Amino acid sequence: MTHSIELPPLFNFNVVAVHRVTGKPQFANIFAPTQVDADDFVADMSPDWIVIRDNADLLVACDHCDHEFPVDELQPCVVEPDFRFCGDCADKLRD
Ligand SMILES: [Zn+2]
Repeated sequence: MTHSIELPPLFNFNVVAVHRVTGKPQFANIFAPTQVDADDFVADMSPDWIVIRDNADLLVACDHCDHEFPVDELQPCVVEPDFRFCGDCADKLRD
């Protein structure tokens, strides 16, 4: 038995949004074929979130070292998903 169904490749996209009520930045990692699909998915699923599109140039401060990085270089803390760390800090904090 062979399966020949072709699924589009999925990538991990960072979706950035601002909460409509609190104004707090919101982040989501979504597996989707394209950034637009990921943005649409979050916009549909979370009506309280104002999705910021074209966020490639958006800089967000690392919650550990306070340096600013392109948003897609930051990764959520495993323990506290509200905290976002740059790659360097994430490596240091992993142990
Ligand atoms: Zn950092």
